[in-house]
Amino acid sequence: DLGIERSYENILRGEKGVEILLRDAHGRVKGRYEDGRYDVAPVSGKNLNLSLDIELQAYGEKLMQNKIGAIVAIEPSTGEILAMVSSPTYDPSMLVGRERGRNYLKLNRDRYKPLFDRALMAAYPPGSTFKPTQGLIFLNEGIITEHTLYPCYHGFVSGRLKVGCHGHASPLSLLPALQTSCNAFFCYGLRSMVDNRKKYQSPAKAFNVWKDYLVSMGYGYRLGVDLPGESRGFIPNSNYYNKVYGENRWSALTIISVAIGQGEVLATPLQIANLSATIANRGYFYTPHLVREIQDTVISPEFTTPKYTMVDSHYYDYVVEGMRMAVTGGTCRIGAIPGIEVCGKTGTAQNPHGKDHSAFMGFAPMDNPKIAIAVYVENAGFGATYGVPIGSLMMEMYLNRKIAPERKYLEERMLQSNTIIYSGVKKH
Ligand SMILES: [Zn+2]
Repeated sequence: DLGIERSYENILRGEKGVEILLRDAHGRVKGRYEDGRYDVAPVSGKNLNLSLDIELQAYGEKLMQNKIGAIVAIEPSTGEILAMVSSPTYDPSMLVGRERGRNYLKLNRDRYKPLFDRALMAAYPPGSTFKPTQGLIFLNEGIITEHTLYPCYHGFVSGRLKVGCHGHASPLSLLPALQTSCNAFFCYGLRSMVDNRKKYQSPAKAFNVWKDYLVSMGYGYRLGVDLPGESRGFIPNSNYYNKVYGENRWSALTIISVAIGQGEVLATPLQIANLSATIANRGYFYTPHLVREIQDTVISPEFTTPKYTMVDSHYYDYVVEGMRMAVTGGTCRIGAIPGIEVCGKTGTAQNPHGKDHSAFMGFAPMDNPKIAIAVYVENAGFGATYGVPIGSLMMEMYLNRKIAPERKYLEERMLQSNTIIYSGVKKH
């Protein structure tokens, strides 16, 4: 249940007929949204055309079977949502007809929470998918250039504080830091910014600048998707830390883990996908939306006006290059698609309640991108294990309408795998 009827109530209400149609990538009508559940007898009514690509949507649902999490795919040039999967899901026909009360209670009690649309309602630690935002902020603020080197001694070390990393060449600059997903680089970057007393009067002042950038990238507030129930995620500001630690009682080291998408920061899969679309566009996005067209009605300018971030467009080129390097020779190698220049970023988000979450953010092709995507699989471990394969298969299916023979094993592995068993939620 995407709740489309609630968002478009004012258009649907009082109309004699409404048909909500699904179209494929070529604009051909492929069927009715949720089997016509929301259609009203089409006497003289309006067509509401959704942007969902029904084949891609179905493919995503298959890949996410026996997993908990979400996929969101967006067309960067329009902000149209191509696929939005929340798993586990349920058969919408359960909520129509005589049994719907009983079924609702059953679904509501289900410990995997199928009624909870994780794509836009779940606020997750973004993990390393957050690192591109940090690189962009540091570049635009002049904290780093693309040549700035930071060391990584198997992590970021300052006094007794250590944020671990894995083996790679050191010192390193932004592009290889994105390629290898180096934790230390972004911790040093955040420290150079928040503790910079030449540029900012106080950590609080620096941090509020940091927050403003993230808000301009669509984080911390609802994006305004045309569906109900969207979560705003969470981006702390200095007041938040003043309350927690006391005024002037915190510094970069106190909050260092936000540099790698841990700590207090939270984002929805929709926000992460929107970040990917923004990077694909080199600095702007359209508010993600599902309704492409309402017959005889102009869709709200909210959805057709580009929103620019606070970061200069040319800095995005470095991040795009770093995300390309992650696929050609870094943490996203398994996401390489023959003949397509894929850009990507893994995320492995620490989860205090159990096994790490596996995430991916990417887009393709590198130039003139057609699809941007975020994948989040709860309790599935490294980003490269589930996030990257699922995200790249979705992009391949969308762009090529088939999976290359040499990548069939990956599809098979995803279709066969079950990560619900790691969720800690007991079967009932
Ligand atoms: Zn490192």
